[in-house]
Amino acid sequence: MKVYLNGKFVDESKAVVSVFDHGLLYGDGVFEGIRSYDGLIFKLREHIDRLFESAHTIMLKIPMSKTELIDVVKQSLRVNKLHDAYIRLVVTRGEGDLGLDPRKCARPSVFVIADKIELYPKKLYEQGLELITVATQRNVPEALNPQIKSLNYLNNILAKIEAITAGYEEAIMLSHSGYVTECTGENIFIVSAKGGSASGGKGKHLLTPPPYIGVLRGITRQTVMELASAQRLHVKEELLTRHDLFNADEVFLTGTAAEIVPVVKIDGRVIGEGSPGPATKRLQQAFRQVTKTAGVRY
Ligand code: PMP
Repeated sequence: MKVYLNGKFVDESKAVVSVFDHGLLYGDGVFEGIRSYDGLIFKLREHIDRLFESAHTIMLKIPMSKTELIDVVKQSLRVNKLHDAYIRLVVTRGEGDLGLDPRKCARPSVFVIADKIELYPKKLYEQGLELITVATQRNVPEALNPQIKSLNYLNNILAKIEAITAGYEEAIMLSHSGYVTECTGENIFIVSAKGGSASGGKGKHLLTPPPYIGVLRGITRQTVMELASAQRLHVKEELLTRHDLFNADEVFLTGTAAEIVPVVKIDGRVIGEGSPGPATKRLQQAFRQVTKTAGVRY
């Protein structure tokens, strides 16, 4: 496999960064995960824009233009002859000294890895996932805004470890005030006839926590909200409690790597009928369709 590293494609065995890189020493850097489906890169522009926004907020100047970076993503897929792939873009603060001071880092490191990914086995998408709520709370957004997709994922990793230790694959993280935020690398949605804790109304609602409670504005999340509106679901960002999850008709997770994962049990409570629900299945189907048609060719 060839990896793009600071201006050239090198063999993966040669794709190494310094132990003085602040991305490694302090998690000082930003990243994106992008997918390609059958030769089409999904939501490429959105991912590149989010990477540049994350970098801008941490005052990290990406040493190339968006167009150049898009070209590198396309080249990574061509060089490795990949059609269905997962692409990881990383920009670190670069090599510095042992202090925090980013001014000591003269040049950011940029690398792009294109590889295959299967986050969960296929069976799970048909049968659904069991989740638990963990004690590790999601970072308080006032302290570390989750819109910065930084290399410092320890908050999420601690939650993941808790889930794994308890015998589960994925964790629900709550906010400081006890509201549902997201999972360790996915956004969460509920389908409910009632419309959540704060609203009434008729018809099926698709609800997901608002970004201000401390969740990443996922690109898959946005896609699913658009697809759901087209399917006449009432889509809304709303504060959700565990009670709302337990009593939802359907629950699912979204993410670039995970795509749309049905959830059938949370903290021992069966969700709906205990199997992936009709709205989730319709959205999975619509999502599959959009990934086949809406990407950027390379
Ligand atoms: N939340 C977190 C914490 C994530 O890391 C991710 C993806 N890496 C998501 C949600 C899903 O975002 P997207 O759909 O843009 O991949």
